[in-house]
Amino acid sequence: MTAALTFDDLKEQTAAGAVDTVLVCMVDMQGRLMGKRFHAAHFVASAWRETHCCNYLLATDLEMATPEGYASTSWQAGYGDYTMRPDLATLRPVPWLEGTVMVLCDVLDHHGQAEIAHSPRAILKRQIARLAEMGYEARMATELEFFLFEESFETLRKQGYRELHPLSGYNEDYNIFQTTKEEHVMRPLRNQLFAAGIPVENTKGEAEAGQSELNITYAAAMDCADHHTIAKQAVKEIAHAKGHAASFLPKWHRDRVGSSAHVHQSLWKDGGNAFVDEGDALGMSEVMKSYMAGLIRYASDYTCFLAPYINSYKRFQKGTFAPTRAVWSVDNRTAGFRLVGDGSKAVRVECRIGGSDLNPYLAMAAQIAAGIAGIEEGLALAPPFKGDAYDGDVAEIPGTLRDARETLKGSTMLRAAMGDEVVDHYVRAAEVEIEDFDRVVTDYEIARGFERA
Ligand code: ADP
Repeated sequence: MTAALTFDDLKEQTAAGAVDTVLVCMVDMQGRLMGKRFHAAHFVASAWRETHCCNYLLATDLEMATPEGYASTSWQAGYGDYTMRPDLATLRPVPWLEGTVMVLCDVLDHHGQAEIAHSPRAILKRQIARLAEMGYEARMATELEFFLFEESFETLRKQGYRELHPLSGYNEDYNIFQTTKEEHVMRPLRNQLFAAGIPVENTKGEAEAGQSELNITYAAAMDCADHHTIAKQAVKEIAHAKGHAASFLPKWHRDRVGSSAHVHQSLWKDGGNAFVDEGDALGMSEVMKSYMAGLIRYASDYTCFLAPYINSYKRFQKGTFAPTRAVWSVDNRTAGFRLVGDGSKAVRVECRIGGSDLNPYLAMAAQIAAGIAGIEEGLALAPPFKGDAYDGDVAEIPGTLRDARETLKGSTMLRAAMGDEVVDHYVRAAEVEIEDFDRVVTDYEIARGFERA
């Protein structure tokens, strides 16, 4: 990528006092930014080379527990350090935080020599390199959906998330009046992300009260994942600054629509979209067809990377635009994969399965791996699905995290593409979520059975 801010710019701005803080961040297993806030003077003098973090950062759950069972990290091994090495090509201003810039880091072993294989950026890098060897570059876009609430994060946490009021009162899909009411959050979000070098296309209201979508122009896969991660951070931080909570939980209420993160993808070669074939009825090249056939053939292998938590699977309800069928269609939103831009230079495939809680580095890496497998195996693409894919006898992806964990564990395709160490690490991550949930007595069980059981 081209840095939105060069290191020389940063030195100048630091000397002039315009910048005083550098966020030095890595991406964790959950796709969150973790790291330290450096004084800019110290960063430009020395910390730009490297800093360190505890290696448990790539072996925690959402609540920062230290679960047993990870081969890479444990109490026995003493929880040592990783090296965080700033990738200066990712330097960018953070316009929503005063005097602040940000840099993303690669994560290496304690001696700063080998990249940590299960670090999300390393996982994506590996698949991008495999594609490059075949002469292709993946260009991707993710659509971020989320909810805004009247209350702040603090208010909601203190009252146990019982009284959640979405910021608008009714379905705001494409609704300009409703979204005008959210402009105190969404306008700074668009403008400040844009000023941070993230090419925002638009925001729009989504098909539920309080639900929004943010679209960012497609980019090389690593840039797209970086954009997604920083944009998600910006949504939370800007909403927080305005006194609101923003949530990327895929399903926060059983009667409300869930939030997704659709992934648009195309392969490029010599500056052109390699998915285009003007001679084909739908404008799809043979490479596109095999790539899509791979995405579909292996959808169950990588479901865990599209839906990583127990809650992710609550979104998959019939008739809600959250598809669970591994079929493709032409501009039909009930199928897991949708052909978009058919017959045009922008022809691409959109995977509609993933939820708003996916880690974009992992979701994209797994899909690239599946696409590569489709090309290498010369898989043929079945005819497009027509009608409502919720009905009918078509291939279904795992419906629970428990099942998705099994299909991930047994995936010879992902083991060959990512390595056993990486797959086993994320199988364990899924297991940790299942074990934790299995211990919980939920409100649902009490309300249903307390008196009646
Ligand atoms: P939708 O029909 O889903 O609303 P949009 O026109 O909003 O589709 O586009 C969705 C995303 O697809 C945008 O982020 C856009 O930048 C991206 N996109 C456009 N062309 C390509 C491409 N060739 N490869 C990948 N993504 C693309």
